[in-house]
This record gives sequence, C-alpha cells and structure tokens, in this order.
Amino acid sequence: MKRDYYEVLGLKKGAADHEIKSAFRKLAKECHPDRNPGSATAEIQFKEVNEAYEALKDPQKRAAYDQFGHAAFEGAGANGGYGFGSDFSASMSEIFDDLFGEFMGGRRTRGRSAKERGSDLKYNMEISLAEAFYGKTAQIRVPASVTCEACGGAGAESGSSPVTCPTCQGFGKVRASQGFFTIERTCMTCQGRGEIIQKPCTVCSGSGRVTRERTLSVNIPSGVEDSTRIRLAGEGEAGIRGGPAGDLYIFLSIMPDDIFQRDGADLFCRVPITMVTAALGGQVEVPTIDGGRARVKIPEGTETGKQFRLRGKGMPVLRSKLTGDLYVQVEVETPQNLSRKQKELLKEFEKASNDTTHPDTIGFLSKIKAFWDRAGKP
Ligand SMILES: [Zn+2]
Ligand SMILES: [Zn+2]
Repeated sequence: MKRDYYEVLGLKKGAADHEIKSAFRKLAKECHPDRNPGSATAEIQFKEVNEAYEALKDPQKRAAYDQFGHAAFEGAGANGGYGFGSDFSASMSEIFDDLFGEFMGGRRTRGRSAKERGSDLKYNMEISLAEAFYGKTAQIRVPASVTCEACGGAGAESGSSPVTCPTCQGFGKVRASQGFFTIERTCMTCQGRGEIIQKPCTVCSGSGRVTRERTLSVNIPSGVEDSTRIRLAGEGEAGIRGGPAGDLYIFLSIMPDDIFQRDGADLFCRVPITMVTAALGGQVEVPTIDGGRARVKIPEGTETGKQFRLRGKGMPVLRSKLTGDLYVQVEVETPQNLSRKQKELLKEFEKASNDTTHPDTIGFLSKIKAFWDRAGKP
C-alpha cells in the first residue's frame, strides 16, 4: 500500500506550497543516498519523498491527487503516461485534458515559435605549418542555406503574410476524440507551426531559405595551434522563417611537416651530419620555418643526438610578441657503401687510435670486463 504523499512529507492536506518545498528539501537532505551509504531504508524513503514532491509541487498534478489520490497517477510508471482506470467516468475528462496536454510535448502555449535558429556548420580546414607560422587569410566556400531575400525569410509572397492556421487555430496541434481518449497530434495543415502561408514565395517555395554558396574570408592568426576551433558567429545556416542564423565552426588542423616537428612554440629539426664533420667539427646549414637558412657550428667531437638551440627561430606565440626556438638535433651518420680506399683509410685510422680516441667504448669495455670477472662470485 502506497503511503499518502502528504504523510510522506510530514504534512497535512492543504499545506502551502512553500511548506511542501521546505519539507521536501529537509527530508531529501536527510535521506539522501550520499549521506546514507548502503542504507536500503534511506533509499526507499528518498524515492518516496521525491515522488511525493514531484506530484505535489505541480498545481495540476496536486489537484488531481487531492481529488483522486494515487489513482490519479496509476500506470504512470513505465511510459510516463497518465493512465486512468476504466472506472473513471467521462466526468473526469476535464482534468484528464489538462494533464494530457502537458504530457504531449509541453504546455499548450499558443503556436510554437515560428522562428527557428539555423543549424551550426562545421568546416574542416587543413593548413601547412608555414601557413600557421605566417598566419593567413583563407577564402572558404560554404554551401549553406541562407535567408531568402525575396520574402525576407517569411516564406510568403511579398505583399502577403502568413496567417493563423485555420485547422488548429494557431496551436500547432489538433485533438481528435476516439471514444474516451483524446488524441493530440501535430497539425498536418501547418506542420505544427500554427500558421500557414497562403501564397508561398516563388523563390524559396515557402521555406524562407535558399541554398547558396557563400565565400567567406577567414583570418587564421599567426601561431595558431593544431585542432584550433574558430567560431564565426552567425555564419552558419540561416534561421527558419526569420530566426537567427547558426554559427560556423572552422576546425583547423595543421598538416604534418616533413622537416619540422612542432611542440607548442618550439620547433625541432633532425639534421644528419657525417662522421667526419662530427669528429673534426664544421658547419651545417639548416632550414628555418620562414623559408630561410641558418648555420649551426658543429664543435669537434660532437656526439649523435646533440641538440643546438637557435633562439627565436621557432613559431610565434598566438596573440603575443614571443617566439619559440628551433632545436636542431644532429644525427651522426655511419658511412655506408665504402670503397676499398675508404676502408683502408679507416683501418689505418683504427690502427692510429688509442684509449682517448673512443673514451666511451674503452670505458664500457673495462666496465664489462670487471663485471665478467666477478660474475658468479658472491
Ligand atoms: Zn522566399
Ligand atoms: Zn495548424
């Protein structure tokens, strides 16, 4: 047996609205599952309190409950519909009507707003790293429906204007009685708009919109990051029947570059150098993102993986005067496809080498020799 809703909230029938509200708040706090972890009793009470409040906070539902008790909401569970038992006579059709209307998609307000906001559009744009470096003004062509100029978006032939739908009197919905039930459905005459166009605009056939390709100028700021989203307010699809336009979102992606890798404002560039340059030192010429070139001095005995920083040769920082750096990482290339002569020279070189020529190799060799010497000995 279901408890009386007023009883659940600790109130008397006829309690004022604010009393219902404060009783609900107090009880909901007390028996909230977060406060009573694992308590089944609290959980049941919490549900009861919520259900009672849901029914009593709404004047129409409360009136129904006051009159019919729990029977007013029977069958409301699964589909959320108000089902009334067969023992309810047609005398209840009045309250039935009120509740029903609310259920079939909101309150019965006169006419759905005829204006509708246009959809947002998404445009994917790929730019190169160099374009991200300089920034650019891109021209993009956006196929979009725009407001029909001939009718100003109203959909009606100029000189005429939409009139209230005679079928639904502007409600956008019609009711049909089927025995005891009242079925409410969208008005077919006006598609739920509540008004009809008697003389449709010949340019847009009454839709108020025409499809057109627009060319937009988009300013891509210098230093823009990958995955940046640029919003162009009001550049989306035109609204319906004079409603506001949607927005256009440009999803920017930066194509991978085959020379530079980007990390925020810094750029990285891997530069192979010959074994001889690494050993003897020298200079290498490296590219810069602005299309220029820079020289990097390679000191004698440079190891592979060594990084050289070129200050201010990276990417600009968006909306600032700062610029990142360019890191040049050298990779010593082992010579390949040697000629007989080259091999002889290298063998000669090897013979002339000593402990200080390859300190790392010598150091490692003595380390592993010591390791093997003590291997197996505790
Ligand atoms: Zn038109
Ligand atoms: Zn209608």
